[in-house]
Order: sequence, then structure tokens, then C-alpha cells
Amino acid sequence: MLTPADLLTNTDGIARTAWLTSHGCSRRALTDAMGTGELLRIRRGVLALPDADPKLVIAARHGGALSCADALRHHGIWTLPRPDHEVHVWLGGSGRRHPHPRCEELCTTHFSPGTAVLGYAPVVDALIHAHRCLEPEAFFAAYESAWNQRKISASDRRRIRRELPASATWMLDLARPDAQSGLESVLRFRLHLLGLTLESQVALPGVGIVDFVVGRVILEVDGRENHAGFDRRHNDLMRDAAASALGYETLRFDYSMIIYEWDRVVAAILPALARSVA
Ligand SMILES: [Zn+2]
Ligand SMILES: [Zn+2]
Repeated sequence: MLTPADLLTNTDGIARTAWLTSHGCSRRALTDAMGTGELLRIRRGVLALPDADPKLVIAARHGGALSCADALRHHGIWTLPRPDHEVHVWLGGSGRRHPHPRCEELCTTHFSPGTAVLGYAPVVDALIHAHRCLEPEAFFAAYESAWNQRKISASDRRRIRRELPASATWMLDLARPDAQSGLESVLRFRLHLLGLTLESQVALPGVGIVDFVVGRVILEVDGRENHAGFDRRHNDLMRDAAASALGYETLRFDYSMIIYEWDRVVAAILPALARSVA
């Protein structure tokens, strides 16, 4: 027989009592599970496993689903690291906020069409909310990451376009489905703001597919978590040599440079571009 705890593992560790009883848990079984500490009562009618995501629990206390960056991260969408304790809660179109401790300090409430369930907000809703809360480049990178991973459909993209303000349209027009990493998205976004238009995922004979080409400059983004091994480094050197033979200069940037040393990135790209058109 499925225990209440078994059922909750399928719902991110949190559920309404009514849902549990409609799936075969007796009131008695729920009371017993609360007695043993197997289940916690979050608020009236809402139960959770003791190891449920603490932000999910606060969102449920507040009355809705966890959204914005935390939900996107949960769904495997690339997000810029932003240490925060804030809890972004989606209450659907007309949900009700429930009082709870530290709410003023922790919670940001999102109302948008739909019925918010408990748990993590779906990708499309989380993106719509994230547009309000994240920096534009962080929203853009998350949007491209979701599209690249096919976690938003064409109709989701139409909905996002409808629901975001007109001021977001240019970002949606700039977005592409082939960004291989959030870093590529951030690089392209920032260079777009500097007036540079990059060609993405360009196939060059003898070189292979490079991340970006602008003028006669190749920009490669190294989004690898681990340090490159010898084979990878050799491969990069071979590619750079082949690119040079075709008249291209290659510049490579990693996470740390793009996120923390952006000035150096710009200081490398602009002169290379000037040389390439000289
Ligand atoms: Zn709250
Ligand atoms: Zn938010």
C-alpha cells in the first residue's frame, strides 16, 4: 500500500490533504504520519515531507508555487547565480496570500493567469515571472536555455510574448534556440547592447562549428565545469590554427571572465575586431 510519504515523493514533497485523501490516504493515516514526524503540517490543508525544499515550504505557507529563478533552476534551466533568500511565490490569477512568519522579509508575490498549484511553477510561468524579477540578461539567458532544451513550446513562446510588456519584445526577437550555454547567451546579449551582431554556431571548413563569428574574429565560450584535459586543449589549438589559416583570429572566454571580468572581454574583442577590418 502507498503511504502518504510515498505519494509525496511524487509531488516534490508537498501536497494538499484533499489531494492525498483523493489518492487513497485515510485521514487516520495522515494523522498517524504527522504524529511520527513523517509528515509536517505546513498550514491548514497542506502537508509536506520533513526534507522538502525549504523555499517550497515557505511558498506553500504563503499560498502558492515557488517561481522565478528557483523554479527555473529546479527545471534545469540555466540561471545566473544570485545568492538570495527571497521566495518568489506564484498565486495564480486570484490566489490568496496566507499570513506566515517573516513573510514581509522573504516573499515576493506574483499574480498571473492560471491556477497555481503547490510545488514548483512550470517553466513557462516561471519565465514570465522572472522577467519582472531578474536582470534582463539573466532573463534572456534563462529564456534561451529553456528554448534550447525544448522546455518551452512554440505556443509557450507565443504566450510569453503576449504576457510580457512590449518593452520585452526586442529580447524575445533576439533569442535563438541554438545557444549552447547560458554564457553564450550572456555574451551575445551584452555584445548586442554594444552594437555588435554575432553570427552563431558557424561552420568553418577545417575548423568545425565555432560559437560566434563577428567580422574575422571567432569568439569561443568555454562553459565547461571541469578543467580542460590535454585532448581538449590540443583540439582547441588545432582549431585555432585552422581558423588562423582561414584568416580568423580566435578569442576564448570562460565563465569567470564573462561573469566577473567583463571589461577584459570587451577590451579583447573591440581591438581584435578593429584589426580584422583594417
Ligand atoms: Zn510569504
Ligand atoms: Zn519573482
